[in-house]
Amino acid sequence: MIDFGFSVNPSSRINLDAADGEKFHRLAALEPDALKCMACGSCSASCSAAAFEDTSLRRALLSLQNGLSDDAAKLLSHCMLCGKCTMVCPRGINTRHLILSILKIYSL
Ligand code: SF4
Ligand code: SF4
Repeated sequence: MIDFGFSVNPSSRINLDAADGEKFHRLAALEPDALKCMACGSCSASCSAAAFEDTSLRRALLSLQNGLSDDAAKLLSHCMLCGKCTMVCPRGINTRHLILSILKIYSL
């Protein structure tokens, strides 16, 4: 394989036919804000924890849409609930509350 000096991230495309949507729907029933996310990535770009650990609300929500709740909980396990992502979210999502709900449902 040719080394171009960079790598391409794996696709985050969601195969809705194969995904188990039950987990995401369970979250959306508790937190309707989860349906507002447009995966813009502003939360991840501003995240205080992301500089040190693999933390991303955007990827956590995409993981849940793919039925991968373990990945979602892992991606938020180092969240410090600082609230920076809440301030930058263009959809006005209460991200801290959403993160707490995700951790409550999928980490226990
Ligand atoms: S900033 Fe808001 S809309 Fe953008 S990915 Fe994060 S939660 Fe979703
Ligand atoms: S609340 Fe959590 S996910 Fe949001 S910016 Fe702070 S550490 Fe990152």
